[in-house]
Amino acid sequence: METLYIKVDEKNPEIDKIRIAAEIIKKGGLVAFPTETVYGLGANALDEKAAIKIFEAKKRPQDNPLIVHIQDIKELYLLVKEVPQKAYSLIEKFWPGPLTLIFEKSERVPNGTTGGLDTVAVRMPDHRVARLLIRESGVPIAAPSANLSGKPSPTNAQDVMEDMKGRIDAVIDGGDSKFGVESTVLDLTGDIPIILRPGGITKEELEEVLGRVQVEDAISGIEKPKSPGMKYRHYSPKAEIYLIVGEIPLQIKKIKELAKEFERKGFKVGILATAQTRKEYFGENVISAGDRDAPLTISSNLFSLLRKFDRMGVDVILAEGIPETGLGLAVMNRLKRASGNRIIKA
Ligand code: AMP
Ligand code: MG
Repeated sequence: METLYIKVDEKNPEIDKIRIAAEIIKKGGLVAFPTETVYGLGANALDEKAAIKIFEAKKRPQDNPLIVHIQDIKELYLLVKEVPQKAYSLIEKFWPGPLTLIFEKSERVPNGTTGGLDTVAVRMPDHRVARLLIRESGVPIAAPSANLSGKPSPTNAQDVMEDMKGRIDAVIDGGDSKFGVESTVLDLTGDIPIILRPGGITKEELEEVLGRVQVEDAISGIEKPKSPGMKYRHYSPKAEIYLIVGEIPLQIKKIKELAKEFERKGFKVGILATAQTRKEYFGENVISAGDRDAPLTISSNLFSLLRKFDRMGVDVILAEGIPETGLGLAVMNRLKRASGNRIIKA
């Protein structure tokens, strides 16, 4: 299959180009498109056959459900049985934006979209291109991240093409994703709201609205997590990642030691440092992820840098841990999972 590459002006998307992509969605095809979190791989959420194509293109396990994207609140009522009271204050404050809410699903949502669950994940993206695509398609769009299953999520159209060229009908290029990590997935179906996946809306922001919020500890490899996606290997480049946590000077010392050790064994080592520590390390394969006091500068780069290390051909990536506050919680969640739990306390 030939993958159509559609470049749009992200500030002022050309409506005729969006309509070409919308036609593909209406006919049951697959279109990758930009959102403020990462690039999504979209299909008509109400068309089971179309949704199933997403799983095939990504090589995604069938039990890992898709997030359904809407552009108008009216579309929510078609997808869910009821909207709990708690959801309204969140929707008012955070939609459109990087917050996905879990609801009991309506009859209209096919099992193929929800991986057989009785619940459906819904989000309203805050990106002109995404919103226009949903509007012009006239249907809610199911879309997981537009990467091959297990790889880092794509945050630009080139990274989508690296994984999906020849596997999907089209990709809309609308520039770089702002957050660079996926949406926060919040389960409202129980008494206490639970963050199933930390993401673009922080725990602190949610607690301002909801009071106490729990975070599901999905890192430790539980058998049946509430969010099925959490049990799979994810976000991983070809290189093995080691995540080094602890006080900054100790992290630096440990990373230098490990780098020497791996190099002595003949491995090519990449170091994922931060702006504050970049100068402590020597060699060609040292990259600053961003400012450790401004985690958005790190989240927005993280996945594209993991792919860059692959292109550089490194065997091992030594990554510095950052504080798990604000967006730092999502960044550390992705790094922990990308490392497959190779976490070293310095
Ligand atoms: P992706 O968009 O590729 O990051 O994948 C969607 C994420 O949302 C995965 O982690 C899914 O497990 C999660 N998700 C989607 N639908 C549900 C649902 N109904 N209940 C719990 N988690 C969900
Ligand atoms: Mg994903």
